[in-house]
Amino acid sequence: MKKIGFIGLGNMGSKMVLNLLNAKYEVLGYDINDESVDKLVEFGMKKAETLLDISQEIEIVITMLPNGDEVKRVFESIKKNLNPNTLFVDCSTINVSDAQEIHQKCLDNNLLCLDAPVSGGVNGAKEGTLTFMIGGTKEAFDLMGPVFDILGNKSVLCGLAGSGQAAKACNNMLLAITMIGVGESFNLGMNLGLDPEKLFEILSTSSGYCWAVNNYCPIKDVGPNSPADNDFKPGFSADLMLKDLTIALEAIKRTGSKANFGIKAQENFQNMIKNQTGHLDFSAIVNFNNENNS
Ligand code: NAD
Repeated sequence: MKKIGFIGLGNMGSKMVLNLLNAKYEVLGYDINDESVDKLVEFGMKKAETLLDISQEIEIVITMLPNGDEVKRVFESIKKNLNPNTLFVDCSTINVSDAQEIHQKCLDNNLLCLDAPVSGGVNGAKEGTLTFMIGGTKEAFDLMGPVFDILGNKSVLCGLAGSGQAAKACNNMLLAITMIGVGESFNLGMNLGLDPEKLFEILSTSSGYCWAVNNYCPIKDVGPNSPADNDFKPGFSADLMLKDLTIALEAIKRTGSKANFGIKAQENFQNMIKNQTGHLDFSAIVNFNNENNS
């Protein structure tokens, strides 16, 4: 079984490491926050005191970090200590262009590389049911296959360098747009005097059905349990959604794509977050959707 170095042991990374430990992988973990490391040592993870400990005996390095700058910083610190053909797998959500830059740096240092952002949130990380969207070579993908199978229940090789991040940007832009649309639809329905329960019953089984209605309905006490039933405690925070939309916007500009609703969705989340509410679940956007609130 391959030895894994895991960097970034926050909400997502810590749960992924627990699943690797349960599957009997040897994991050497590092985080700038000592407390996050120590919690996992209790479950059998080995502690890397510094990034320099992530070196020769490690065969796969996984990063789960807040942004591209941190991933690049970490990569620069460890690249010289890794054996040739070590696999560097970044599961963070970062810019497509940053991911491509990291792939090139891996190539320059004789390392294998995958960009492999995830969908499924903290619960998916905990349950081992994440979806991985992957960019890189088939050779690297096949090497990582058994690990993806432990951490998730779907892994799709989307194409070459940066393709995983490209798929993630498209998915999350669509999620933001649909969530805003769901909020507008319920708002209109209630202004027309409809009972939101009845509207849910219709939308969730008619052509308006979508993940944002059926699984994550943003109206309190309507549909399956969701952050709306828990004062919009995340879940997936509006801050993280804004980060993902900003990544999508960079890609929209760079490729000259038309995406008016994606651009508008980013503006809506910026307005929401101006009101000091970035810590709330992203579905709270339904309450910041109209001109009065923005
Ligand atoms: P988090 O903030 O809980 O965890 C990030 C961890 O990285 C923290 O423990 C932090 O101390 C550590 N860290 C930061 N800089 C570091 C460095 N230079 N070296 C070592 N450790 C460092 O974030 P999270 O929710 O676990 O998200 C991680 C990534 O996964 C993000 O890119 C996020 O966009 C993505 N993601 C999150 C979710 C979610 O629901 N939380 C869902 C899908 C994707």
